[in-house]
Amino acid sequence: MASKEEEARRRHIRLHMEGALTARDKVGVQDFVLLDAHTSESAFVENLRKRFSENLIYTYIGTLLVSVNPYQELGLYSVSQMELYQGVNFFELPPHVYAIADNAYRVMCSELNNHFILISGESGAGKTEASKKILQYFAVMCPMTESLQVARDRLLLSNPVLEAFGNAKTLRNDNSSRFGKYMDIQFDFQGVPVGGHIISYLIEKSRVVYQNQGERNFHIFYQLLAGGEAERLAYLGLERDPQLYKYLSQGRCAKESSINDKNDWQTVSNAFSVIEFTEADLENLFGILASVLHLGNVCFEEDAQGCAAIPDTHEIKWIAKLLGIYPSVLLEALTHRKIEAKTEEVICPLSPELSVYARDAMAKAVYGRTFTWLVSKINSSLVNKDFTRKTVIGLLDIYGFEVFDKNGFEQFCINYCNEKLQQLLIERTLKAEQAEYEAEGIEDEECIRPGHATDLSFLEKLEEKVGKHAHFQTRKLAGPKGRKRIGWMEFRLLHYAGEVTYCTKGFLEKNNDLLYRHLKEVLCRSKNSILRECFLVAELENRRRPPTVGTQFKNSLSSLLEILISKEPSYIRCIKPNERKEPSKFDDLLIRHQIKYLGLMEHLRVRRAGFAYRRKYEHFLQRYKSLCPDTWPHWRGPPAEGVERLIKYIGYKPEEYKLGRTKIFIRFPRTLFATEDAFEF
Ligand code: ATP
Ligand code: MG
Repeated sequence: MASKEEEARRRHIRLHMEGALTARDKVGVQDFVLLDAHTSESAFVENLRKRFSENLIYTYIGTLLVSVNPYQELGLYSVSQMELYQGVNFFELPPHVYAIADNAYRVMCSELNNHFILISGESGAGKTEASKKILQYFAVMCPMTESLQVARDRLLLSNPVLEAFGNAKTLRNDNSSRFGKYMDIQFDFQGVPVGGHIISYLIEKSRVVYQNQGERNFHIFYQLLAGGEAERLAYLGLERDPQLYKYLSQGRCAKESSINDKNDWQTVSNAFSVIEFTEADLENLFGILASVLHLGNVCFEEDAQGCAAIPDTHEIKWIAKLLGIYPSVLLEALTHRKIEAKTEEVICPLSPELSVYARDAMAKAVYGRTFTWLVSKINSSLVNKDFTRKTVIGLLDIYGFEVFDKNGFEQFCINYCNEKLQQLLIERTLKAEQAEYEAEGIEDEECIRPGHATDLSFLEKLEEKVGKHAHFQTRKLAGPKGRKRIGWMEFRLLHYAGEVTYCTKGFLEKNNDLLYRHLKEVLCRSKNSILRECFLVAELENRRRPPTVGTQFKNSLSSLLEILISKEPSYIRCIKPNERKEPSKFDDLLIRHQIKYLGLMEHLRVRRAGFAYRRKYEHFLQRYKSLCPDTWPHWRGPPAEGVERLIKYIGYKPEEYKLGRTKIFIRFPRTLFATEDAFEF
């Protein structure tokens, strides 16, 4: 007999289930697979709307979780909610991000395999919040030993540090992640979280030097000014008022009421100490941040010869002090360029415009590489060498597909990334599905087609060409539908999520991401130990052109796909309900767009065509054997026969299931729900 606790748990679940089932008309269905066979996009939206209006923000499509950002606290993330979802079978409770976390965790523990959870959606849809909830779930619910509490705390606290340096207020999200993030959480064989590893993708460096109206630079700058100790600021030569810094005030919202920079500074400072940053590290790190701010205030004038001059060297002196370089060397590097002729180096002056370009390039390079340094520093504190047998759950919080009125290099990279990930989804879920049916000897009459993968090879070629022969290529790149525009070109790509027109303006500059050699030399000789790690002398000696941003991104994506391909996937698709960050506002048109870009209808179609759930005969029998007198309390024969006996007894119809070699395949979730409901207490 089931224990008292087990009975109480089942009763609890049953109550939830009943609530969910009886209220179905009002609250919609909790799994889109339960909607009518030929669900239209309108019916899909309607189901989301019904649920959203009842504060039910989560809905499944089979095992994929769709989440709509509520823009309000709904009390969904308490410890008691976590406990409710712990160890419960996936479909027994209303959809929740904890169910996804728990499911990945339990399968990992029982099968000792690796997992990843891919969270996608457009800016402001709730990806980062979802990934934080998952991390918290593991931190609270996984077994823990005293000696590993530090590892857990570091995992949790890596978030505020990375967010401070990598997130910013944008028009669409007050805490927008301006980099892609993949985080492995490592578990020992008992399921205790023991360490982690983070990989970051394509930090938006241009934000360091320029922000649109209503947007800010990365949070950390404002936090440092608002919360930094007076002595620290004095040492860095900084004033409290962010409006005094050009790099912080172009967006005209340096002071933002929804953000408390002072409090956030406290959180980040505390996190720094847990992640083992020494006072020397911090001094160097803040030295770099302050130099960037000073750099932004360096102004150039035109001298009589039309060359750049720096009338006020006040800022230059501060930068030189903080970075440990000679002021005169920095000044020269910002206003001159070294050109290598055959036998000698020629130094030629820059125009003021080019000096501005050089200055901004320096700020971007310094910040971008410092961010990379920060990630590796965090990683070294998350490493745990004591555990060799580890399994991992990877969390991927990555920018979703983007289409604006004007789409540039950033959208091109982001959409390329999404294209690759969609391809992975097709490989991992749909093709894997096909393979499983074949292995289990199940005929798949409705045929699962992987949809129309776009012509990635074209995209790849395009990327190569943009990098290598830009001027010439832009003409070619215009493609069949491209149109010539004054000065630059447009090209159009048919992505899985729709057609996007890109404008090549700025492509080359962003792709080449040039930092004049002269400035690189200066940074390589800096006494700031972080910069010395970031700018290696070896780079100066290497005369070959560094890989372009596009190529680097492409390579890092290929490695990401390699990481993911060997792991079991779970998917979370986040949807933003409106553009105004408002609770309870459900904007039909906006949501329809996202359903399209997230490929949800296609996913539903494929899910429908196949079998929603499958279980090994042993597991199915173990769970439901009490429902049939022949199999209760023990079934001595082969599990497959026991299952056959059992489902006959409870009355499964032939169209509801198929029997494979090792598993039972159930077509509709409702069949499983009904079976769960049939438990006698
Ligand atoms: P970006 O791509 O810009 O980084 P994102 O998808 O990561 O966007 P989040 O930062 O996770 O978006 O969410 C934006 C805001 O929406 C959060 O700061 C929070 O205010 C709100 N939000 C998101 N998810 C939830 C949730 N589950 N419950 C309550 N509020 C949420
Ligand atoms: Mg985010």
